Amino acid sequence: MTTIETAPAAADERADAPVLEALHVTKHFTARGQLFKRGPKRVVHAADDVSLALHAGRIMALVGESGSGKSTFARLLAQLHPVTSGEIRYRGATVTVRGGKSLREHVSRVQLILQDPFGSFNPVATIARTLTRAVRIHHPKASAKEQLRIIDDLLGQVSLRPARQFTEKYPHELSGGQLQRLSIARALAASPDVFLADEPVSSLDVSIRLGVLNLLRRLVEERGVALLYVTHDIASARYFAEDTSVMYAGQLVEAGPSETVTQHAAHPYTQLLIASAPDPSRAEEAAPRDIGQPPSLIDPPSGCRFHPRCPFATERCATDAPPVFDLEDGQWAKCWLYADDAEAAGKRAENAVAYGLGEVRQAGRRRDAAAGPATTTPTPGRAAAPADAPTPNTEGVPQ
Ligand code: SF4
Repeated sequence: MTTIETAPAAADERADAPVLEALHVTKHFTARGQLFKRGPKRVVHAADDVSLALHAGRIMALVGESGSGKSTFARLLAQLHPVTSGEIRYRGATVTVRGGKSLREHVSRVQLILQDPFGSFNPVATIARTLTRAVRIHHPKASAKEQLRIIDDLLGQVSLRPARQFTEKYPHELSGGQLQRLSIARALAASPDVFLADEPVSSLDVSIRLGVLNLLRRLVEERGVALLYVTHDIASARYFAEDTSVMYAGQLVEAGPSETVTQHAAHPYTQLLIASAPDPSRAEEAAPRDIGQPPSLIDPPSGCRFHPRCPFATERCATDAPPVFDLEDGQWAKCWLYADDAEAAGKRAENAVAYGLGEVRQAGRRRDAAAGPATTTPTPGRAAAPADAPTPNTEGVPQ
């Protein structure tokens, strides 16, 4: 008997329907450590009105700097925290997890892969013991022999062969890349439809990151799972994800096909993220650009939350939250630069000069709030790896 509550409406069975979807999701945490109990309760605006859709066999990058709320949002999708408002839908049906069995059922569909593989393994348990526990949870009827076969198969899927070379070891005897592959193998034990990978390669040596990303890409293509790739590295989004959404101070500010968002960024925050990313082709730059500090999520700025840091801010940016402006190629941005008026046209001209855009962009089409949430529309195919993408490296994987 299922204990996940679903909406009365039938599940969405269209082939292009999202597997997992967030609709207008808001999450406010009560701030701790208030010196005086009197006065209004303070809340942390971790996510405000965030909508995002994940599709089978596709990768969505969720990009933002530390403190933007992107990891919290991944945990909301995993139902580790209840949402304050809005809803999470799995295959079209609203999901409300109330702990225990219902959480286990959601976890079997939606698996979280964490940044630090060392922290996600029991240091005093062998890999065999950890994997056996996961296999028992998700394959309770498997015999001991079948469990061994499943573990062998899982390790093969993450290119850790021969399995016995890894199963009798403890976590400290393995490299970060090997442990991250093992955490992916553990996630695969549940046969999930969705992976939520929270900075899955940030803690790994640069030389082995691409090997782990290529493994995730292969699993997405072979198994048709949907993958949310949470990262602060916007450069990696270009060659790894079909679609990219950019988060700032708990809100999505831009989204679209990764190639478009990374090569023709529309929002000044995305432009600053790209300008601050290390780029070998800009070798003359001594250091990445300083993009300042993100605002407090307890008392976020009024209007556009980016306005205190934005070189193109106008008076209305400080008072009026920008709506969604649809641009070309499925890209959209929440930014007053794309309004259809003279002031915005002047600022777009300034923006084109500042970022060497070549030509001044056109105004966008203001999206009617009644038209539904701002999510990324899937585009066919995926961004090709740029010619200067590093060569895959499978260090740590026995040949
Ligand atoms: Fe800058 Fe205004 Fe656009 Fe915000 S809305 S990013 S402050 S131009």
